[in-house]
Amino acid sequence: MSKIVFFCIPAHGHTNPTLPVVKELVALGHEVYYYSFNEFKEKLENAGAHFISCDHIDLGLEETENAGDRVGKDIVFSTELIAKATLAMDDFAMEEIKALQPDVIVGDSVAYWGKLTAMKLGVPFVSSTTTFAFNQYSSRIMKQSIWDLFKMIFQMPKTGKILQPLRDKGYPAENVLSIVQNDNETNTVVYTSKEFQPFAETFSDKYAFVGPCIREAGEEIVKTGEKLIYISLGTVNNQFVDFYKNCVNAFAGTDYQVIMSVGKDTDINALGELPENISVYPSVDQIGVLRKADVFLSHCGMNSASESLYHGVPLVMFPQTQEQGGVAYRVGEVGAGIRLEKTDSGSIKAAVEAVLGDKIYKENAGKIAESFKKSGGAKEAAQAILRAVRK
Ligand code: UDP
Repeated sequence: MSKIVFFCIPAHGHTNPTLPVVKELVALGHEVYYYSFNEFKEKLENAGAHFISCDHIDLGLEETENAGDRVGKDIVFSTELIAKATLAMDDFAMEEIKALQPDVIVGDSVAYWGKLTAMKLGVPFVSSTTTFAFNQYSSRIMKQSIWDLFKMIFQMPKTGKILQPLRDKGYPAENVLSIVQNDNETNTVVYTSKEFQPFAETFSDKYAFVGPCIREAGEEIVKTGEKLIYISLGTVNNQFVDFYKNCVNAFAGTDYQVIMSVGKDTDINALGELPENISVYPSVDQIGVLRKADVFLSHCGMNSASESLYHGVPLVMFPQTQEQGGVAYRVGEVGAGIRLEKTDSGSIKAAVEAVLGDKIYKENAGKIAESFKKSGGAKEAAQAILRAVRK
């Protein structure tokens, strides 16, 4: 039996994919200690982990709105935040890990303190990457070239200043890249398939592309129309009343069944009276809906895109951030959807009908679904972690 430690940042998108992995490890008889934040306690305990709260540590996240979700999406911001958070976590993580003596540490790729604590104490380490694995090649698919951003911040004397306190603490934080990039020497679990990962051939055999870990559907959605259109812009950046109004106008009175998830902070009344064929909710059982949907108009968060493709549902992509832009670009590359260029109701309807009207998009989504299903999922992720355990 092995003792396995997880470190993660306070973000659902980074925590959720690890839950089935924790479950699998516990089912195999291993002990999992998960360092996270109170908001995630119940989920983690339900998965069978010993939850250890890091809430008393000031990661400096409160100062900025949506900080947890901006990590990894805004690189300059991330560097500062990661350096700050790592310093804040240092003493606590070191003390805990010295006492616990785990056989392996699994750290989210932006929870830098996991990797560095492992490094300092000589504990085997596995990186857990919930977006695409990220190196100089795959970063190219981000439209505004994160690479250029890197170059820019290398030259900023500020960066050296940000990282100096980390070096003082014995961390080998050479530069920004050495922090956020996935490298070919570290055992790394990536929650997508080789087929969907951009530039997969540039990553070493230390990488386990296990495919997304998709949760079970919570409910059976009743299909009332021949074609079901699902619309959601995710759980974070989703307050776009005008866009939702245009969606309602695009499909009002048609034969399509439309389900729209607009987020808990969007005022549904502001959309006016809804036609019979359109249902709007603050939140839906997305997996349940995707099991029945014919097309998904999505912001292309990594989770939403993966869940859609897993169910063979083609996409109309409406990305809002750089990371989502990268995911949308890749969906386009594999031919599983098209980008929404304009947001007036005519353009929305035309894009959705273009995807519904050509079966190639669904076929291509199906190919990615197959690749996801043969990648091994949580079982393979658990095995990759156990392979890293010190013999
Ligand atoms: N989700 C859900 N119900 C909704 C909207 C979203 O269950 O009504 C889930 C969705 O299945 C996915 C996650 O929330 O797992 C959204 O993650 P994603 O990375 O797509 O986007 P984010 O919300 O982080 O922008």
